[in-house]
Amino acid sequence: MEPKRLLLVEDEEHLGFTLQFNLQEEHYHVDWAPTLADARNHLSTGYDLILLDVMLPDGTGFELCKEIRAQGNHTPVLFLTAKGSSEDIVTGLEAGADDYMTKPFVLGELLARIKAMLRRSSWQSNEASIALPLETFSFGHVNIDFRSHEVTMEGKPVELTHLEFRLLRFFIEHQNQVVSRELLLESVWEVHATSYTRTVDNFLVRLRRLFEKDPSQPKHFLTVRGAGYKFAP
Ligand code: CA
Repeated sequence: MEPKRLLLVEDEEHLGFTLQFNLQEEHYHVDWAPTLADARNHLSTGYDLILLDVMLPDGTGFELCKEIRAQGNHTPVLFLTAKGSSEDIVTGLEAGADDYMTKPFVLGELLARIKAMLRRSSWQSNEASIALPLETFSFGHVNIDFRSHEVTMEGKPVELTHLEFRLLRFFIEHQNQVVSRELLLESVWEVHATSYTRTVDNFLVRLRRLFEKDPSQPKHFLTVRGAGYKFAP
């Protein structure tokens, strides 16, 4: 089997070196770009996953992520961010990131995330051939077509990343049920790490921004205190 190709965009030399070394030990092919310019040069060759730092010498990872999404490139992007505030994380998700990790992180967790993301994306490429019982769904002013992956809010198209789409689908399949953050992580993210429950919260912030009339007073994506979340169509 061909090794999976990863592009690592990271300007911190020590971290870049350590990550490249450890990822190569896991039998990934890793190209390391310390700048956006270098990353752009590499991107024409095609990757299975991009690990993208936020603060780079010639700009931000957010810019690059927006750029490639605008070009119709759906390669999974995992942000490596030192900025831990949910505002920054939401900016990353809005730029089209599939997932993020906050520095400093544990290497084992990063490897688990990468594995899960690659597994999800290989499923997604096969998804068209799988018969799906759920074809369309509507709630509020939102229409979803699961066959074409098209989502509209008040008639206007909404761009979702693969992970956001999976999360939305999971909520719809479990509508009116309380689902815990741990269950969401296991079912949608495919990770067993309980230390990343904040990830789920940040994706919920994003779904509310996209689909709630008033994100501060959600009607569909509800928080159930001490238990998790509930989707109410
Ligand atoms: Ca940096």
